[in-house]
Amino acid sequence: MSDPRSRLPAVNLLVTEVRAAGRDGGATRTELVAAIRAVLDDARAHAGDAPPDGWVTAIERRLTEANRLSLRRVINATGVVLHTNLGRAPLHPLARQAMDRAAGYSTLELEVGTGDRGSRQDHVRTLLQTLTGAEDALVVNNAASALFLLLHGLAGGGETIVSRSELVEIGGAFRIPDILARSGTVLVEVGTTNRTRVRDYELALSPRTRLLLKVHRSNFVLHGFTSDASLEELVHLGETRNIPVVHDAGSGLLIPLDDAGLSGEPLIPDSVKAGATTVFSGDKLLGGPQCGVIVGATAVIEAVATNPLARALRPDKSILAALEATLTLYRDPERARREIPTLAMLTEDRASLRRRAKRLARRLPSAHTEPGTSAVGGGAFPDTELPTELVVVPVSSPDRALTALRLGDPPIIARTHGDAVAFDVRTIANDEFPIVEHAAHAVLEQTP
Ligand SMILES: *Cc1c(COP(=O)(O)O)cnc(C)c1O
Repeated sequence: MSDPRSRLPAVNLLVTEVRAAGRDGGATRTELVAAIRAVLDDARAHAGDAPPDGWVTAIERRLTEANRLSLRRVINATGVVLHTNLGRAPLHPLARQAMDRAAGYSTLELEVGTGDRGSRQDHVRTLLQTLTGAEDALVVNNAASALFLLLHGLAGGGETIVSRSELVEIGGAFRIPDILARSGTVLVEVGTTNRTRVRDYELALSPRTRLLLKVHRSNFVLHGFTSDASLEELVHLGETRNIPVVHDAGSGLLIPLDDAGLSGEPLIPDSVKAGATTVFSGDKLLGGPQCGVIVGATAVIEAVATNPLARALRPDKSILAALEATLTLYRDPERARREIPTLAMLTEDRASLRRRAKRLARRLPSAHTEPGTSAVGGGAFPDTELPTELVVVPVSSPDRALTALRLGDPPIIARTHGDAVAFDVRTIANDEFPIVEHAAHAVLEQTP
């Protein structure tokens, strides 16, 4: 008997067959041959049998897989609006277009009027001044690097005073005491876990004090017998001793959302008004790209902007393009709330959620809707549970169904709900409903 592997077709024959069938997807010969070799290797591992669905289909599938990028779009059906694993804030269409435009040659560092070299910061400075009330602004890669830059520039070699109740870990191993140590400033802790007064800061002042730092707790809240020194009190104390005050405000909330049941996050214009140099993230509540923004007095911004570290932390052109487009929407706060995806999702009302959930449920087999809760995520409004309407589909194995949904294209990230999978429509756009419908049918056929 001859070796069954000798039955395998020749590479050249398969090249011709795939090309003749028009199923090569525009691959070059090198790409096509690599895919064919991989499929032949699979066949050898299976005693030389042809793939169950035929050579051409198997090769075509291989080509598609080889071209699929790892960083892909997903459908967020979790209801967690700022989902760090899913890339935090989804961008407004205008911000996406701006990124695309900036991807080629652009006016990044060009003064078109004079032909001179410009600053990449100029594209967002005026907007940030107008929207926050600050004298000046600087954008870097993320809030963590913004804080690092400020600590290094303003307090390196000296002491920074922080309340014990604010020595937090934000997630992804970002810990305030560690970042202080790394930026070369000595941490002076004051107060207790639950109560800190301005007097505690005052008693800790020394000739080495260079900075008073206030950190928004972001991902947890203190309840009960608690008190904090206000930012105004700290700025007042700082002014009497000529010591700057930095507020790490976290999320970048530019407009109030209290009427949508969302309160407790610091408003950036309030921090600026209080007189603190303020740091915030671009891709949390602000709803923009990943970046860190510093706003404050010109003297402080200039001091940190000229630190060589600022060059190491400077943002990319596509980031500045997306940030500019996002900030532009805030010139009309009503429009920002309605259109910026994070704000629109967070403030969608019950009636709208219920209506959309019913619409999705009608498309899914044996689905019903029931009230549930969504989370803000991203370390903002940590104890706020947003009432939502879930689309619930009973399945025999919720975990297997979740996996199957994740392995689809695009992946759908849902959650379990008792003996069912649940889709939270808060984070699913209407034009994504057909994708969810299609995937749910396929999954329910495999894992009823
Ligand atoms: C999220 C957060 C950070 C880190 O922001 P990144 O932009 O993710 O680096 C820093 N400080 C506070 C208070 C935060 O909430």
